[in-house]
Amino acid sequence: MTEGGRRLYTDDDLSKLRLICLLKALGLNLDSIQGILSSEKPGKVLNLLLDEQAKQIEGEVAEKQKQLEAMKIVKESIRDRDAIPVNSINDIERIMKNKKGLKKVHGTLLSYGLAFAPFQIGSIILWIMKGIWIPFVIVYSLAILLGIPIIRFYHRNTAYICPECGATFRPTWKDFNFSKHTSKTRKLTCTKCGVKGWCVEVYADNSAESGGAM
Ligand SMILES: [Zn+2]
Repeated sequence: MTEGGRRLYTDDDLSKLRLICLLKALGLNLDSIQGILSSEKPGKVLNLLLDEQAKQIEGEVAEKQKQLEAMKIVKESIRDRDAIPVNSINDIERIMKNKKGLKKVHGTLLSYGLAFAPFQIGSIILWIMKGIWIPFVIVYSLAILLGIPIIRFYHRNTAYICPECGATFRPTWKDFNFSKHTSKTRKLTCTKCGVKGWCVEVYADNSAESGGAM
């Protein structure tokens, strides 16, 4: 002690103090820190403790990540309306699980659209600039002809979650084709409860089914 009553730290104390601060910053509690400091093999103990700590934090991060993802899904589902089509954690889990499959379906639709776009634009230009309308008719007839199987593919590979009863259902072909929709939702009549509402689109995994014809 100095005359003023202040404690003098040795270099050793100081480095110990620094270490304690560091370990606290890494999230270790004082008990664990004491254990390390009094251990004969502090390096080994610290290593084990950090592994444990890292595992716990990774678990927490994964949990938070899941919450963020769930928030995104709910936000997307209410984007255009003041209604909440997704209302249970089960719905969200279902949507998260099959997001990949749905992406594939949307990718197929998009590539079909992209493949046709240049021909459509080209035929419109020909019609407007040169007055040649036959290519336009051919391209659009083809687009419709080939579009039907694509829409059937879309219909077959998607299902919808009813906001009313929570059931996952496949809309009828007619309802599917003549319904208002956004990128994630569609206004459909639930085949289970009969209520019409904005339903969230999910991927319909057909591999598990015995090929129900629709
Ligand atoms: Zn329903």
